[in-house]
Amino acid sequence: PHMASKPALTLLIAAPRGFCAGVDRAIQIVELAIERYGAPVYVRHEIVHNKYVVDTLKAKGAIFVAELDEVPDGVPVVFSAHGVPKAVPAKAEERGLEYLDATCPLVSKVHRQAERLVDQGRHILFIGHAGHPEVVGTFGQVPEGQMTLIETIEDVATVEVADPDCLAFLTQTTLSVDDTAEIVAALQARFPAIKAPRGEDICYATSNRQGAVKAIAKRCDAMLVIGASNSSNSVRLVEVAEREGARARLVARAAEIDLDWLEGVRTLGITAGASAPEVLVREVVDRLAEHFDVTETAVEGVEERMVFKLPRALQAA
Ligand code: SF4
Repeated sequence: PHMASKPALTLLIAAPRGFCAGVDRAIQIVELAIERYGAPVYVRHEIVHNKYVVDTLKAKGAIFVAELDEVPDGVPVVFSAHGVPKAVPAKAEERGLEYLDATCPLVSKVHRQAERLVDQGRHILFIGHAGHPEVVGTFGQVPEGQMTLIETIEDVATVEVADPDCLAFLTQTTLSVDDTAEIVAALQARFPAIKAPRGEDICYATSNRQGAVKAIAKRCDAMLVIGASNSSNSVRLVEVAEREGARARLVARAAEIDLDWLEGVRTLGITAGASAPEVLVREVVDRLAEHFDVTETAVEGVEERMVFKLPRALQAA
C-alpha cells in the first residue's frame, strides 16, 4: 500500500567493480586447500580484506591467525593475497609446514623487482601506506634498511638518501592513481636519476575500479562504496568519488547504509572494492529497494579478462 510513497532513486552501478583476479584466486586457494587436505586449513592474515569472505571461509573450515606461531605443526597454512615477508615461508619450511602462497601474482611481481633493484645496489623509495600488510610483505623481500617508505608528497621533500644517483621507486598495487602520479612527479623532480619500475605497479583492477568511479561520479549525487575499512583499494574509491564532487561513503554491508544520508539523493552511484563479493552489491540494492523506487541504469566499462594460475600443488585438485 505504501509503494507509491517511495521516493525515486536511480542507481548507477560502476563497471568494473568488485572481485579482481587476485582475490578470486586467493579465495579459490583456501577452498581447494580445504577440499584437498580436509579442514581445518590455517590462513595467516585475512585472506582478503573482507569480513563476509573471511566468515564464509571460516564456515567451510578455515582458521584465520595473525602469525605463523599460531599454526600447529602438521596442518597446511595459506598466506594471504597481500603477500608475506620472506621470513614467513622460510619459517614455515623450517617447521616443515605445508604452505600455499595466495600472494597475488601482481604483488609477487613487485617483490621480484624489489630484489633485483637491491641486487643492483639501488636504494628503493617505496610509495605506500604504513602498516598495510602488502607494504610489510614487500619490505620483507629485501634486507632491512634498503627500502624507505614514502606516504605523501611531503615525505618526498624530507626523505634523506645516501646516494641520489642510486635510487629506484616502486609502489603498492592498490594506491590512488592520481595521488601516486603526483608523488612520482615530485620524486623525479627531486631525484632526476631515480629508476622507475618497468610497468605500472598499481594493478589493473585498482586503476580500472578508480576509472569506473570517475566515469559515473559526476552524474551521481552520492556514492556508496562497498568494502572494508581496512581495504586499501576500497578506501581509495571513496576518495576518488569525493574528488569528482560526489558525497561518498564506505559501507561493509547493507545494514550500514544511513538512510538519512541519502535524503534528497536522486542518483546514487554504487561500486565495490576488489575484495567485496557481488552478493554484497545485491544486498545493498535490495535494501535500497525497500525504501526507494529504484531504477538500475546499466553502465558500460572496460572488460577484464585477467585470470591467474593456481599454485601447482592445487592445479591437479
Ligand atoms: Fe592483485 Fe590488484 Fe587484486 Fe590486489 S587488487 S589482489 S594486486 S589484482
